[in-house]
Amino acid sequence: MKKFKTESQKVLNIMINSIYTNKDIFLRELISNASDALDKLAYQSLTDGSGLDRSTLEIKISADKQTRTLVISDNGIGMGKEELENNLGTIAKSGSEAFKQGLDSGDVEIIGQFGVGFYSAFMVADKVQVLSQKADKAYLWSSSGAEGYEITEAPAATRGTVVTLTLKQDDEEDYSKYLDEYTLRSLIKKYSDYVRYPIMLLCEHTHTHEDGAEHTEKQYEKVNSMVPLWKKNKKDITAEQYDEFYKENFFDYEKPLKVIHTSAEGAVEYKALLYVPSHAPYNFYNKSYEKGLKLYTNGVLITDKCADLLPDCYSFVRGIVDCQLSLNISRETIQQNRQLKLIAANLEKKITAELADMLANDREKYLTFWQQFGLQLKFGVYDGWGAKKDQLKDLLMFYSLQQQKYVTLKEYVQAEGCGDAIYYAAGATVESVKNLPQVAKAREKGADVLCFTDDVDEFAVKMLEKYADKPFRSVSDANSEQAEENADLSAFIKQALGDEVAKVKCCKNAAEYPVCLTTEGELSIEMEKVLNAMPNGGKVSAAKVLEINVNHPVYAKLTQLLEKDKEQLKTAAEVLYQQARIIEGLPVDNAARLADLVARFIAKAE
Ligand code: ADP
Repeated sequence: MKKFKTESQKVLNIMINSIYTNKDIFLRELISNASDALDKLAYQSLTDGSGLDRSTLEIKISADKQTRTLVISDNGIGMGKEELENNLGTIAKSGSEAFKQGLDSGDVEIIGQFGVGFYSAFMVADKVQVLSQKADKAYLWSSSGAEGYEITEAPAATRGTVVTLTLKQDDEEDYSKYLDEYTLRSLIKKYSDYVRYPIMLLCEHTHTHEDGAEHTEKQYEKVNSMVPLWKKNKKDITAEQYDEFYKENFFDYEKPLKVIHTSAEGAVEYKALLYVPSHAPYNFYNKSYEKGLKLYTNGVLITDKCADLLPDCYSFVRGIVDCQLSLNISRETIQQNRQLKLIAANLEKKITAELADMLANDREKYLTFWQQFGLQLKFGVYDGWGAKKDQLKDLLMFYSLQQQKYVTLKEYVQAEGCGDAIYYAAGATVESVKNLPQVAKAREKGADVLCFTDDVDEFAVKMLEKYADKPFRSVSDANSEQAEENADLSAFIKQALGDEVAKVKCCKNAAEYPVCLTTEGELSIEMEKVLNAMPNGGKVSAAKVLEINVNHPVYAKLTQLLEKDKEQLKTAAEVLYQQARIIEGLPVDNAARLADLVARFIAKAE
C-alpha cells in the first residue's frame, strides 16, 4: 500500500468529506477524463500514423445494482504503471500538461485541467478501481480512500481505461440513485450531452415474446447528442429549434423574445447562444434570482450559471457559452480567468447592440421587453456610480404625457417644442403623476413631462445628469421662476409650521389646487419616500416648499385671518400642509388630529 502525496491527501480528504453539495458532478468529471483520453489518442494517431478509426472511440457506462458498482470506461490512450502512479497518486500534477509538453502542440485541442477531477469519485464511492492499459500491459490501481492506494499488474485486454466505483451505502444521501438507468441518463444529458464522443449507457429493454413471456435484454445506447445546437450553422437552425432548445434548457414555458447566436474567433474563441426571455421569472426582482450563463469548455459543462459572464444590467439574459479555455473546476479560477473576462465584455457589447436593434426595428417587441426588464436597465444606469450610463441611456424609455406613449430620451428631445430641459414628475402611477398640481402647471406652459413611476427613476437620471446637453428637471423643483406674492403671509405660515418645511411661498398656480409641495435641493419627495422605505436606511427629509395658490379662494381667507385671527390661521396652515402631503402621497403625521381639525371647520361653516 502506498500513501498519497501530502497535497493529494488534502484534496482527497476534502472529497471524502465532500465540500461539494452537488455530488452529481463526479460523473461529469469521469466522463470528461475519458473524453480527454480519447482526444489524446486521436491526437497521437495523427503523429504516429497508426491509422486509428476515430469512429470506434467511445465512452461506456454501466451499473450493477447487485454489486453496487458503476463502471465508466473508455478506449482512449490509457495509462501505464508510472502514469497511474503519477496521475492518480499525485494531485496538482496534471497529466494533460505533461502530455502537452511532450508533444508538439498541434491542431487538436487537448482538454484542459479539471484539477481535482478524478478524486471527485470519492464523493460517492468508498472504493475506486482504475484498470488501465496503454501498450501491451494492464495495471489495476485501487484505493479505498484516505489510507492510500495499490497498483498491481492485471491480465492484459484492450487499450483504454475502466474506472469502477463501489458506491457508498446510503445514509442521509441517496447514493443508490447512481445505479439507476434513469438518473444516469439524465445526468449524462444534463452535464455531458455535448461531449463529442458517443456516451453509451447500458440500458435494459423488456420485450414480450409471442407466447406472452417477458424477456429482458441489456444493450448499450448512445445517450448524448454530440452536436450542440450552438455549433451548428445559423442557417441550418429553424426558429422552432431555437425556441425548443430554450424551453428545454431554461425551463420556460414561453418562447423567448429574442435569440442571439454569436461567435468569435481570434484572441478569444467562443460560440454563444443567448436568449432574452419574453417575461421576467417570478423571482427576477428579488434576491433568490441568480444571473449567469451556462459555461461549456471543450464540450463539457463547467457550470450552469457562470455569473461573471453577464453584467447585472443584463442579468435577465439566459444562454450558453462554449469556449476553449483551460480552467480549473473551482469558481475562483473562473473569476480570475482573463479569457472569460474578454468573452464577457464581447457579449455585453453584443447584447447592447441587439437591444438597440430591437428598439429601432421592432418597437412592439421592445415595449414588451421594456415592461419586463426596463427596471433592470434603469438600475444599471444607477449602479456603480453610473459606470454603464452611456451604454444604457439610449435604451431607456419613459411615459410621455404629451405623446401619451413610451418614448426614448432621444425622442423626447427631438419632439417639437422641446425646451431647454427634460421635465419629469415622479409618482406611483401615470394617473397619479398626471394629477399632480406641478404637472398641470408645467403642461399649461407647453412642456412635455415624463412620468417617473419606478422608485429608481429619479436616482437614475441624477446619475445621467443630462441627455443631449439638456438637464433633467423635476417639475416639483421649487427653483422655478414663481414670484412671491405675499411675503407676510408666507413668513407667518413658515413660522407656524416650523422645520416641517424649508420655505412657504404664495404663487400663482392652476386654480383647482389650493396648495402643493415642491422641493429645493437634490432630494425630491419621491426620493425621500424610497430612501425611507429601505429597511436599514436612516430617515431622510427633502427640503419641502409649501406653495399656496393665490388663485384659489382659500388664499383670500388666509389673508383675512392674518389680519384678524392669527390662532385660526395657524390651524389653517397645519391643515393645508397636511393636505399638501396627501396630494404628494406622503404620510400624514397625525390623521386623527387632521380629521378633527377639518371637522371643526365644517362645524363652523354657515
Ligand atoms: P486532470 O484531468 O485535471 O488532469 P484528474 O485528477 O481528473 O485531473 O486526472 C489526473 C490525470 O489522470 C489526468 O490528467 C490524466 O492524465 C489521467 N487520467 C484520468 N482519467 C483517465 C482516463 N480515463 N484515461 C487516461 N488517463 C486518465
